[in-house]
Amino acid sequence: MNEVVSLVSRGSPKEICVSTAEKGNGNGRAGMNGKRAAHRIESLQRPVVVCGGAGFLGSHLCARLLNEGQRVICVDNFCTSEVDAISHLIEHPRFELLHRDITMLTEEEIGNPSAIFNLACAASPIHYQRSPLDTLFTSVRGMDNLLRLARLRGAKVFQASTSEIYGHPTIHPQTEKYWGHVNTIGPRACYDEGKRCAETLCFIYQNEYGVPVRIARIFNTYGPGMRLKDGRVVINFIVQALAGDPITIYGDGTQTRSFCYVDDLIEGIMRLMDVTNDFSGPVNLGNPSEITVRELAERIVQITQSTSEIIVQPLPVDDPPRRRPDISLAYEALAWRPQTTLEEGLQLTIRDVEERLEQGDLSLLNTDPAKNRQSRLMGANAI
Ligand code: UDP
Repeated sequence: MNEVVSLVSRGSPKEICVSTAEKGNGNGRAGMNGKRAAHRIESLQRPVVVCGGAGFLGSHLCARLLNEGQRVICVDNFCTSEVDAISHLIEHPRFELLHRDITMLTEEEIGNPSAIFNLACAASPIHYQRSPLDTLFTSVRGMDNLLRLARLRGAKVFQASTSEIYGHPTIHPQTEKYWGHVNTIGPRACYDEGKRCAETLCFIYQNEYGVPVRIARIFNTYGPGMRLKDGRVVINFIVQALAGDPITIYGDGTQTRSFCYVDDLIEGIMRLMDVTNDFSGPVNLGNPSEITVRELAERIVQITQSTSEIIVQPLPVDDPPRRRPDISLAYEALAWRPQTTLEEGLQLTIRDVEERLEQGDLSLLNTDPAKNRQSRLMGANAI
């Protein structure tokens, strides 16, 4: 497991941990000045906890929750994220950051939240396969710990489940009724089986202990703010196209995915958590518009007017050949469906990457496999 270190957005670690617990208990002192009185009122509002809050989806969710007036405690162990992703939120008066691993999070640290959102798990295949035990235990032990905390505090739990639940699907598109087809011993199993077990844990805690749970099975999502070294296909292709590096298609590129723009996805999560009946899901959240990986590469080359060539590399083991969500249930239960076309979403994501590349060092973002082999030999941390 990753080392657990105290780090917080304001004050010393000790101060913040204490203040978080105090706020949760609603303790206050008399004789406060106006600023402190306002802080006291804020303290009375139960916070929400976003685990994995510095990750791609987590950081967007934190921003949305803050916009809606929530007090947010962001928990992250920074195993695949960087503090930069939430630098725009750090100074927000209703935002707190806890550098913690969810397997070790305690009730004192989270105070008395009304909801716990669990988005804490590496989601990019190259990252979650790098440390498979951490990946598995984050989903299993981490989920168990969060559900235990939710039970103690009377909080509702959101679990970011995944289309990987369906594995190598034998039905298409995938509905929630489909039980999936996962290789239990393959390289993706640490992620897939961890997420499957997390769903099971959610329902055990709901049925046995009355913890309200909400589960979304999230399909491929992309958008501004993805780490440039994330390794997933959309960001890889965009960075390669802008850098003029070869675009690396794994396999023959006929495998399909369905890409959902991040704002649409966050809207789906919000609706799922806000739904007033006892609908728990699991519910698919994703964009049903399906595209081959090769078409995606061509689309990105065209939009960026890149001179990059498209090259082929070996297909990773157990790479699912097709993936497309059936979102009838999301529409029926949440009146949700994506609003952003792939074209619009790619334009927005490309603009974001361009801006970040202008500010940074292009050589650090090298996704050219030949150059990367060399970087690895030299001990660099390139993907
Ligand atoms: N892929 C690719 N080139 C890349 C990265 C990914 O061809 O540089 C392929 C990958 O093999 C898979 C699809 O794109 O078929 C989506 O991969 P990603 O890692 O984004 O997520 P997955 O859906 O596999 O979890």
